[in-house]
Amino acid sequence: MKRLLIALVVSCLSMALVSAEKIKVVTTFLPIYAHTKSIVGELAEVRSLVESGGEPHDFQFKPSDIKKLSEADLIVMNGVGIENWLDKPLEKFKGGKKIVVDTSVGVDLLENPQVIELTAARSKEKHSHDGHQCEGHGDGKNPHIWLDPINAQKQVKNILKGLIQADPKNQEGYEANAARYLKELEQLDQEFKTQMEGLKNKNLITFHDAFVYLAQRYNFKYIGCIEDFPSKSPSPQILKATVDLIRKHQVKTVFVEEGYSQRSLQSIARESGAKIATLDTLEVGESEAGAYLKRMRSNLEILKNAWK
Ligand SMILES: [Zn+2]
Repeated sequence: MKRLLIALVVSCLSMALVSAEKIKVVTTFLPIYAHTKSIVGELAEVRSLVESGGEPHDFQFKPSDIKKLSEADLIVMNGVGIENWLDKPLEKFKGGKKIVVDTSVGVDLLENPQVIELTAARSKEKHSHDGHQCEGHGDGKNPHIWLDPINAQKQVKNILKGLIQADPKNQEGYEANAARYLKELEQLDQEFKTQMEGLKNKNLITFHDAFVYLAQRYNFKYIGCIEDFPSKSPSPQILKATVDLIRKHQVKTVFVEEGYSQRSLQSIARESGAKIATLDTLEVGESEAGAYLKRMRSNLEILKNAWK
């Protein structure tokens, strides 16, 4: 009995020690949180910088965010410049013990899609050099790598490496959770593949430039995006060029993104007969482990209904 009691006390103590030793992980925004939390489960503390209501493109740092960062053992970011607001704060911690994971390592990066207005104008002028690109994220490569389940698998593997490096005692747990999660991402990829395969006309026009990776993965034809950045209303020229392109490519649906107004597209819909639907960039919303899988599946439903 005495021995049992001692064993009980010891195990309680060690449990308390283990929970006190949980590492602190900070992620930048929703998909990165969802992947990290899915690998971590209860083995570490995971917090997100961009929380519900915020979005990663123009995130403003608050003092409480600096506190989160300074307490973190591990910081996980998407990369490809979308979190350029993190560059300065991270300089503070250079040379310290914090581990920073850039989940884009090993992902093949793509250029931004063409802006419709100038593509149309250029082809009239017969210019042969590259057209103007959507530039919501500065020049260079498109950062929306997470909107492709295969890229997401690479990101998850990068996160797993960082977790093991920061917290080797929980390696087995992280590996088991990651293996399970990777299987679910594989399943998601299969669903996209099989459900998109049979559809003939997958001509894609979007408002913002978020879906280049998804388009390349599942053979959508990215005709272009309507705006440099979803902050202004399209000019009459853009509207006309868009309507022309919709007719030329027989685009069935034009996609706006979650959180943006559909209003500016209504005249396009009226004139061209195309439908308007909303796709989710996963940039805005509640941080939860299952968010990535759930919301990518609803994107799949929306695309299927738009193109069937
Ligand atoms: Zn975006």
